[in-house]
Amino acid sequence: MNAVIELIKGDITKMRTEAIVNAANSSLMGGGGVDGAIHRAGGPAILEECRMIVARQGSCKTGNAVITTGGFLPAKYVIHTVGPVWNGGGRNEAILLANCYLNSLKLAEEYKVRSIAFPNISTGIYGYPKSEAAEIAIHTVSLFIQANTIIEKVHFVCFDEENHELYKNILYL
Ligand code: ADP
Repeated sequence: MNAVIELIKGDITKMRTEAIVNAANSSLMGGGGVDGAIHRAGGPAILEECRMIVARQGSCKTGNAVITTGGFLPAKYVIHTVGPVWNGGGRNEAILLANCYLNSLKLAEEYKVRSIAFPNISTGIYGYPKSEAAEIAIHTVSLFIQANTIIEKVHFVCFDEENHELYKNILYL
């Protein structure tokens, strides 16, 4: 059975999915935006595991993903992925952003995750144009779940109204 995509407006730290995705930076040491919110709500266990990952394998490259506990969050896991900083579009940003979604989904599969929630990666501090980012997110996830059986539900969690409208238009019109 193919997975279902669901659109939600709200705070990803409240999601009761098995995994939530964090739009992290390559240091994995926390930051602003959704990253800050996840570490605040999830507590110190997340940062502790991030530290161990960095000690083992170094920083997380743009487009890659790593997984930690969800700490105090309702979600069992946090998948941390590093989105590209928007630099005008000529620096491979589209492929790197697609890789964030793809590598997060692959990691989720590896951990037998059946439900996952994504924020709108790179569309905050990293400045990716929201409309293009939404197209890439939806396209990449849709393609992946066509050939996938473990993941049953993918939630796109939009924090801001502009992203929510964009996703609504692509998904439901
Ligand atoms: P980036 O550095 O990848 O741009 P940001 O955290 O600045 O990451 O922004 C990514 C997206 O996350 C933005 O669309 C922002 O509105 C959204 N966001 C911020 N806080 C939350 C939250 N608590 N839950 C879900 N999305 C959030």
